[in-house]
Amino acid sequence: MKQIALYGKGGIGKSTTSANLSAALAKSGLEILQIGCDPKHDSTRMLMHGTWIPTVLDLIRERGDANLTVDDVVYPGFSGVRCVEAGGPEPGIGCAGRGIIATFQLLERLGALDGDVIVYDVLGDVVCGGFAMPMRENYAEEVYLVTSGELMSIYAANNIAKAIARLSKRVRNGCRLGGVICNAKNIEGERDLVEEFARRINSSLIAYIPRDRIVQLAELNKQTVIEYAPDSAQADVYRQLADEIYRNTRTSIPTPFDMDELEAFALESVQV
Ligand code: ATP
Ligand code: MG
Repeated sequence: MKQIALYGKGGIGKSTTSANLSAALAKSGLEILQIGCDPKHDSTRMLMHGTWIPTVLDLIRERGDANLTVDDVVYPGFSGVRCVEAGGPEPGIGCAGRGIIATFQLLERLGALDGDVIVYDVLGDVVCGGFAMPMRENYAEEVYLVTSGELMSIYAANNIAKAIARLSKRVRNGCRLGGVICNAKNIEGERDLVEEFARRINSSLIAYIPRDRIVQLAELNKQTVIEYAPDSAQADVYRQLADEIYRNTRTSIPTPFDMDELEAFALESVQV
């Protein structure tokens, strides 16, 4: 079983990429579990055709975790992808990481953390340790950083790389960096920039995902691109991403930039 996590700055495209990745993997015959680790609980919505599934944290609050079964928390979505939303408190109240911890504990107890690939869709620009949970507790074995060429999203990706590097010093921590995914914002020279960022932090660019209107069209139709436009070029991109990630055996301990280096790197890239 492969356990992968997509981390990245807020709004960068983690959920869209995760859902299309899961859909593509499931279409190729694999058993997939996607776990949304964001209090916003919208990670699996396109796989569920727009339905908001109950979050694990709400179910625990309402019914107590001893009374819950697998069917209460795991919902079959497009092409059989099993969907879970951890949930979390309202913004500003309590620790959002709590939902993640409670979810993993429950899924483990129910024996539901299985399949060929588990995809964790995790926030990446929150300092709260709860979001490092999937990495810290050895759930996420391979982390993929989703970033565009914008400095703030590279900054967030670099921070996650720092967390991985720190965790890798712990005995028995198996969390590694699997690669960098460029979800493009159509900035000039973006692909080269993100590729260079990946190389400098001891990783590689695993996929370049163009910005494409078909993504929004699919979203308006409450579907992934894989389902909505399977013959589109964008669907091919997601299928290729799925293939790359599924076959990837090259993981690394990242060598993140410190702040000065990152600023110099950003400056260098605009001057080229
Ligand atoms: P959050 O941190 O809030 O959870 P996120 O990183 O999960 O955000 P998404 O919700 O996946 O980001 O994407 C944000 C928006 O960007 C969505 O409306 C989505 O349709 C759009 N988007 C993502 N990737 C692409 C793309 N390659 N082309 C066009 N639009 C995209
Ligand atoms: Mg999201």
